[in-house]
Amino acid sequence: MDIRFEKRDVLKNKPDENKLGFGKYMTDYMFICDWSKDLGWHDARIVPEGPIEIDPACMVLHYAQETFEGLKAYRTAEGKIQLFRPEMNAARMIRSNERLCMPAFPVEDFVEAVKALVKVEKDWVPSAADTSLYIRPYMFATESALGVHMASSYKFMILTCPVGAYYESGLDPVKIYVEDELVRAVDGGTGFTKCGGNYAGSIAGQVKAEKLGYEQVLWLDGAEKKYVEEVGSMNIMFKIDNEIWTAPAGRTVLPGVTRDSMLHILRDWGYTVHEEHLAIDDLMKAGLEGRLEEVFGTGTAAVISPVGELRYKDDVVVINNMKTGELTQKLYDTLTGIQWGKLEDKYGWTQPVE
Ligand SMILES: *Cc1c(COP(=O)(O)O)cnc(C)c1O
Repeated sequence: MDIRFEKRDVLKNKPDENKLGFGKYMTDYMFICDWSKDLGWHDARIVPEGPIEIDPACMVLHYAQETFEGLKAYRTAEGKIQLFRPEMNAARMIRSNERLCMPAFPVEDFVEAVKALVKVEKDWVPSAADTSLYIRPYMFATESALGVHMASSYKFMILTCPVGAYYESGLDPVKIYVEDELVRAVDGGTGFTKCGGNYAGSIAGQVKAEKLGYEQVLWLDGAEKKYVEEVGSMNIMFKIDNEIWTAPAGRTVLPGVTRDSMLHILRDWGYTVHEEHLAIDDLMKAGLEGRLEEVFGTGTAAVISPVGELRYKDDVVVINNMKTGELTQKLYDTLTGIQWGKLEDKYGWTQPVE
């Protein structure tokens, strides 16, 4: 891929590495590539980050043909920069795009574009503890038309922003509300894709949970509202009687890269892992009987998020006395150890950005 570079005159001031928060500061540059029926992918470029012009009839504004990804670049103790399994994100985006009738951006080009942009922005990769450069690839329909159809033009873009720990309070257990009315995904729908539309439909659940004093929503299956699926932007795992349970991914549940990595590590450690449907009634029962030992969410942004309380209808279950579980902590230390290059990467998951 030929990537054109357009320099900006004045670079931005970099924020304090200890006060980054999440997703607030965009770096100096962004990657853009256009697709049209006639030309395919063309005009790959890294240009100054800033507003882009789109037509008021731009199809994504009306019919939400949009997909995205999320990954990170990590600064190692030696000052090098590395990515974590970027091909997984590239391949997942192609599966999302297939479902939404959008063109595939090839895996090699995706990884090349990410590396090229991170290389340009290397001074933006922070080095304070728990910080990283968040990378947001996304694609959307750009054709101007008000009729519903597969668009004839698309844009693939990548933004980057330095981020701190997702939760300011560190590995503090969160309280989760089990949504028993609204649903996020149904079989045959777009649940397994990372698309903006899934999120648009989920905000009402998040608002409701927050009003009731909960930080996140645990979604049940869309057909029977009987089985646990995932949390907002994370997959979720349960440790019951020393075995691990998580919903099967790929149809209604998003196949998380963090989920896949955790399951690898857990199996490596000898745990029995059930990628099966788990009924909310059985989960709450295990909780009330004291057999629900640990619960944690997994995702790139927060890595791992311990869950300290679950509320389903009028039942409340407190997990591990609202403290981070031993296995949760060990998984966090192991995965972040590999990502920041502090532990040996025996799985071959990291790759340097030259
Ligand atoms: C991104 C996302 C996840 C987590 O996936 P990772 O690849 O681990 O970051 C889980 N669920 C949903 C709905 C997501 O959008």
